[in-house]
Amino acid sequence: MSELEAFVADLLERRGAAVERVEPDRLEVLAPAALQRQLGWPEFAHLNFGMQRSEGTIAIGLEGDWLERFGALLADHGRWSERELRPSAPVPPPGDPERVLDRALDLPNAVWRLQGVSATWTRCLMLTFRFTAASDEKREGLISLGFNLATGAVINDILARLRPALAQPEWHVPEAATKRIAGAGWSEATLASRLHPVLDREVRESVEPFLRAMRRRLERDRNRVHAYHDELRRTSLKRLETLARAEGERAQADRRRESLRVEAIEREYRVKLDDLRRNYALRVSVEWVQALDLYVPVQRFDVLIRRRKGERLIQLDWHPLVKAAEPPLCEAGLGRDRVRLVCDDRLHLTDPSGQASCVSCGKPFCRACLTACPRCQRAS
Ligand SMILES: [Zn+2]
Ligand SMILES: [Zn+2]
Repeated sequence: MSELEAFVADLLERRGAAVERVEPDRLEVLAPAALQRQLGWPEFAHLNFGMQRSEGTIAIGLEGDWLERFGALLADHGRWSERELRPSAPVPPPGDPERVLDRALDLPNAVWRLQGVSATWTRCLMLTFRFTAASDEKREGLISLGFNLATGAVINDILARLRPALAQPEWHVPEAATKRIAGAGWSEATLASRLHPVLDREVRESVEPFLRAMRRRLERDRNRVHAYHDELRRTSLKRLETLARAEGERAQADRRRESLRVEAIEREYRVKLDDLRRNYALRVSVEWVQALDLYVPVQRFDVLIRRRKGERLIQLDWHPLVKAAEPPLCEAGLGRDRVRLVCDDRLHLTDPSGQASCVSCGKPFCRACLTACPRCQRAS
């Protein structure tokens, strides 16, 4: 059975249809009234997934609008799910946690001290988005982002490495005890403030190769349009130069005509440039597709951060399922690597740009503490 056939059979059964496989590539469907209405099918339908069409069967394939119609049947089902992942065999905690931390943390202006390591559960939110970039051509893609809701870390890489484990068919619904240990999730406001910069970066990076190719095409077209009109204009101007020396009524009429021609060429050039601008205007849309609440076991490192007279306790998780530590949380900036600067006032962990000097007056300030410069009020 093809993947499409299996998906359709499964979906129709879930929507109350009786589905029977009569021969390869053929399904016989007894559809309830609602399903008949939604799909425009008779009560008994013969679905044909093969290449050969045949009388009295409904041909189903990836072409046409079948995927959209089945998508409409799915509606919002499967948009949100939760799952608990357990290692198939016990994974011992890291033998030298100090070394793990040493590799995970780089704090140029603060010191850290490991306070303790404990086994616990955490809740990771995995979000999938679809982006569409359209100009003269169109590009679509999916972006997956992940957050550890307990430590605040962005864990896209850890989640990408968890994919093989996620492909396992057995689906453990999280146990109440696991959920209790993992703790509550984020408020909508917290999620929005953490999600937007990360999503923005991922979309920009995903669209970048498409954008580069588009810019090349635009430049090629612009050069072509310019070369064509430039040639026409030069020829006309040369003619005008010759006519400038001629006298008489005829020459005057020719001069006027040629001047009008130059104007017309310039006008047409501008119109062509406007066309290009419209044709290559880029529209990017991002749509949320799916959310998965993933409960995973972790070894939690309690780490004391010290900066001048202040101290703060943070958590950093080591994930037994992928045997790796997550990156430290980053409260301002993208935090691509492991370097974090610690602010004086509230000991925020930010990437270096999160503590940078104000572009206007030069005063350094923490972007997690303040959204605008404290001296000149200029927004970041
Ligand atoms: Zn701060
Ligand atoms: Zn300033």
